[in-house]
Order: sequence, then structure tokens, then C-alpha cells
Amino acid sequence: MECPSAPPGWPAVFAARARIMDMAEHGTLAQVLRATLDELEELTGSCIGFFHFLEADQETLTLQAWSTRTARDFCRAEGQGAHYPLGRAGVWADAVRERRPVIHNDYASLPFRKGLPEGHAELVREMVVPILRGERIAAILGVGNKPSPYEGADLERAALLADLVWDIAESKRTQESLRFQEAALECSLGAVALADPGGRIQYVNPAYVALRGHQDRFRCLGLSLWDFWADPETAGAVRRQLFEEGRAAEGEMKALRFDGTPFDAHFTASVARDAQGNLLGVLGTFLDETERRRIEDALREREFFFKESQRAAAIGSYKTDFRTGTWRSSAVLDRLFGIDESYDRTVANWLRIVHPEDQEAMGAYLVEEVIGQQRPFAREYRINRIDDGETRWVNGLGELAFDPEGRPLSMIGTIQDITERKLRDEELKHKNEEMERFTFMISHDLKGPLVTVRTFLGYLEQDLASGRSERVAKDMGFIREATGKVGRLLEDLLEVSRVGRVVNPPVQVTIGELVRDAVLALAGAISSRGVEIRAELAAVTLHGDRPRLEALWQNLLENAIKYLGDQPAPRVELGVEAAPAGPVFFVRDNGIGIDPRFQEKIFGLFDQLDPASEGTGLGLALARRIVELNGGRIWVESEGPGHGSCFRFTLPAALRPAKEAGHER
Ligand code: ADP
Repeated sequence: MECPSAPPGWPAVFAARARIMDMAEHGTLAQVLRATLDELEELTGSCIGFFHFLEADQETLTLQAWSTRTARDFCRAEGQGAHYPLGRAGVWADAVRERRPVIHNDYASLPFRKGLPEGHAELVREMVVPILRGERIAAILGVGNKPSPYEGADLERAALLADLVWDIAESKRTQESLRFQEAALECSLGAVALADPGGRIQYVNPAYVALRGHQDRFRCLGLSLWDFWADPETAGAVRRQLFEEGRAAEGEMKALRFDGTPFDAHFTASVARDAQGNLLGVLGTFLDETERRRIEDALREREFFFKESQRAAAIGSYKTDFRTGTWRSSAVLDRLFGIDESYDRTVANWLRIVHPEDQEAMGAYLVEEVIGQQRPFAREYRINRIDDGETRWVNGLGELAFDPEGRPLSMIGTIQDITERKLRDEELKHKNEEMERFTFMISHDLKGPLVTVRTFLGYLEQDLASGRSERVAKDMGFIREATGKVGRLLEDLLEVSRVGRVVNPPVQVTIGELVRDAVLALAGAISSRGVEIRAELAAVTLHGDRPRLEALWQNLLENAIKYLGDQPAPRVELGVEAAPAGPVFFVRDNGIGIDPRFQEKIFGLFDQLDPASEGTGLGLALARRIVELNGGRIWVESEGPGHGSCFRFTLPAALRPAKEAGHER
């Protein structure tokens, strides 16, 4: 690094000015500044040159240029445009603080020299000249590290170059900023139009041309800005707001393309004024809203379908935030849980909705498996609805998000009401069990009489062979009885399997008729046992499969007579009682009664409390099927052995007119 030793004289200064002016013709601001610093270094014998703008706040220094040599030899970092607050600037910024040129010929010995900008050249001595414009300091120009002390002549040279360079810089800066602004408008995606105070368009950017659908940009010029509005009244309102109320306007508009096609747009309109408040023109910006509207509509539609399908499938959704310990829920989920807005949605309160018997296991599942092992939540569980306390089955699914330390952040998922499916599953399970027992019992029950038949056939053969004719009749009696039992069993089985499969055309029949037929069919047993029959029947008409309805009453009446035990004054009552949900039919006896423990069991296939009894254990199973096919329920009430029994049942489907009743199979 070699610094020039002696400062050149005045002609050199003027030559330098001429070169700088030359450069200003075509060079950029940065080039002009650098050339000026290079010239000043040369003129003052300095090794460093720098130029800072002082921004309008008079507080921020913006480094604009280094001299070529400074950039090359001294300064590593901080390039053009870097900001530096005055408060942190060292003594090199004293020229700003003191508003006059400053020379520090022994920089290193200065007590408060503070920092230089990062990467700045080491300073030995320096001279800084402020460029004043009116009250304002516009910039500072500095040189440094001259081998000998700076003196007055150096200051004068610097001042001469500083003034010149400032004038050039100012106009360059304005030009560049204008060019930048225009380029920004040109490439803006928002459509921009500038109009004169009369509303005639003076400038449009390419986005505007595209938005209006013009072929030729220049055909937009001179047109009225307000023609863009499809509705002249709205355009009028915007103008009034701008010019009469003095407020900028903004909003949605129906806009017109050049060919007259309307479309949705968003606009802003404002007036531009100069520093003296004179009206320069109107600025309009426009954004095509068609695409946004389309996306919004599509989103709304998707949301609608999403909500509808959730509603139809009874799927609710939720999001739990583990940091706050709260959750949010969809409307469907609220209905499913039986909660409203006021329900305090904390994790503890969710656990409270879970069925009390499942709460402990659920808590453990959540903590140990879902959170502990970071597994997705997937569980079927029972809840007790908050509003009506009803127990429902739900299927809960959820995905968790964890922080890097493995703590749970949130869980998002769905909860579906699966009560009906669960009930069907239960029913199916029950039916399967029944079926298994059925097969077992059939083989067992048929085997007994068949063994009897085979045994007595053997005896018969022996008795015939040995001519013991008096025993033949006895043998045949056993065989007859056994085959009779097989026959009854098969008949009953057939009947059970027919119910619901073979359906007779529905007819109207009164309860009175059904009871009368049942009593007639069992007249023999009634009179031989001396049973008092009481039938108090309101005029209830049923619509349905008459033979089945008859079989229902008959089976119950038959049982009532069969299980009277040794009751000395046997009595059976048949009737109907009104209840809130509809009529309840009953067959009540004062017979042997039924232990409450077996009151459900007796309705199963082949279930007999006394296997030695003459029946087949199919009567009540048949009765229950008939009742269920009519949408009803059958149950028995008895206070236990010796207290008689009362069988009650409902037949809601048979109470509706035939065409509605629907004969489900
Ligand atoms: P069964 O052919 O044995 O009568 P059911 O299915 O009709 O078969 O009845 C099942 C069992 O329920 C009977 O075996 C009997 O133990 C009991 N039961 C039915 N009706 C009565 C009644 N009215 N009183 C006491 N016990 C009864």
C-alpha cells in the first residue's frame, strides 16, 4: 500500500471535479461516489475514503461507499447500504454531532473514540466533512490515514468535492428511486392505475392491462378510471368519498373487463397530493377476486359435505391441547356427548363422560399406552351422555403430536356413535350362543327317545320270538310314547324356525277373538284342572299374522295351566292394560311362580326349570320371537316360587294399520 505523499494543487481539484461530472453522465450513484472518494484520496494524500448518508431522522448513518483502495485493502465487511445508528458511531461521526468539518490528526489517542463499524479500516488520523442542506445534514464525506497531519487546504479540497458530489448524488438518488418505484409498479401483481384529477387514466401497469383484458396497454390511457366499475352508482359513491369526504375508499366491486364481462374484484382508491396539498391525481389498485371466491365456495362446499357426512355417520371430531388441558369439539360431538357450549371442556371432564366402570382403565390406557408409548388412540368405550345420562357406545380415534422431548402437545381425532352396531353385535353373539345350544339340545333331546325306540325294538323282537305276547303291547306303548315325543319336538322346532320366515298375510283381529280361540283350544285342560279363566279385554284390534298371534296367547295360557302346581283354586287372568308407551298385554296365573334368578333364562330355547316336565322348552322362545317380530318386548313378573307368574308383552307393530306395520322377516 503506497499513499501519495504531497497533495496536488488547485488545478488538480478542478480536473478531478471534471472527471466526476463526466462519470455522473452514465455511471451509477455508487460509481460516482467511489470515484469521488478515490479523487479525494488522491488530492489529500489519504489512504482511506468513506461516504455516509445521514437519513431524514438525522440519527441513522447509511454507509454508501468506500474508496476503491479502502474496499480493497482495509475493510472486510459492511458494504453499501449498511445502517449505523449515530449513538453508536465513534468520533468519526463527530462532524455530524458538531455540524462542522472535523479533523482528528491523532485518532488513536482520542479518549472517546468508541467503535468503528465492524470490519472498518484501522484509523490513524481522519478528516470528515458534513454536507449540509439547509438545516439538515445530508451526508458525511471522510478521508483518513494521510501520512502527515490534515490541514486547512485538505478541508477546502474536500468541501469542493463534497458539494459537487452531493448535487450529483441527490439527483441520482431521486432518479434511481423513481426508476425503482416504476419498476415495482410494473412488476406488481396488483393492478394499478393512475389517473389525473379528472379521472382520466395516465398510467397503468401490466397487471391492470391483463385484468381489464386489453390487448394494447396504450388503449387504456385517457379512458375514465370509473368505467372499470360495472355499477356507475358505486363508482359515484367512491368518488364522493374521495373528493367530498376526503377519505380513501376500499371494498368489493363488480368490475368490467374491456369486453363487458363482469367479475368480482377488490379495489382501493386514494388521491395523491403534493407537499403543498395540491391534488395530483387518483390512484386505483385492483385485485381479481374470482379465484379467491371460487376457492372460498369450494371450501364452503367441502365443509358442508364434511359436516353433513359427519352428522349422517354420527362422527364427531375434537382437538385436545395437552398444554392447556382443554379440548374443542364439533357440533356432532356435542350432541353425542349431550353437552352444550357451557360444558367446561377439560381433559378431566372428558374422563367424567366416560362410563364410570371404564374410567380407570381409560385413564391408564391414555397415560401408559397413548402418551407413554406414543401410540395412536383407538378404543371402543362406553360413555354416559351428560344431558340424559343414557349409556352409549363410541369408537374413539386420535393422533397425537409430541414435542422433541416426547411431551404430548395435542391430539386430534374423531368419536363415532357405534351403539346400534354394538347392540347388533351383542344380539348376534346371543343368537350364536343360542344356536350352539340349539344344536346341542336337538341332538341330545332326539337321542333320548331314539335310544328308547331302539331298546324297546330289541325287547319287541325278543318278546315276539319268545312268544311273550302280553309284553308286546307294553313294548309298543314305550315306542309310541318315544316317537310321539320326537314328533312333538320336531313340530315345535319347525314352528320356531317358521316364525318370521313364513309370514301369513296380515289380517285384523281383536284381542277378544285371540283369547277366545286360545281358551277353546285348551278347553280340555282348563276344565279337567278346574281353572277359573278371567278375561277382561278392552276393544283392542291387532293387525298381523293371525296364526302366530294365536300361538302366542295359546302358549302363554298353556304354560299358565301347566305350571299351576297344586294350587287349590287355580285361576288365570288374560287382559290388557294401558301404559304411557301403549297397551301392555298380560297372562297372569296363581301357579308355582318363577324364581327371579331364572326369569330371563326361561325365554331361551330348550330352557326348562324342571327338565322332567312334559314340555319341550320351546314355548316361551317361540312366544318371544313372535313378540319381537311385532316390535315388542316380553317379560315375566313373579315374586318367586309359590307366588304365581304374570307374563307381560307389547305388540307395537301389530297396533299400526297393516300397510304400515311392515312384516319384517
Ligand atoms: P315348556 O315346554 O317347558 O313349557 P317353555 O319355553 O314354554 O317350555 O317354558 C320354559 C320354562 O319356563 C318351563 O319349563 C317352566 O319351567 C317355566 N315356565 C313357563 N311358564 C311358566 C308359568 N306360567 N309358571 C311357572 N313357570 C313357567
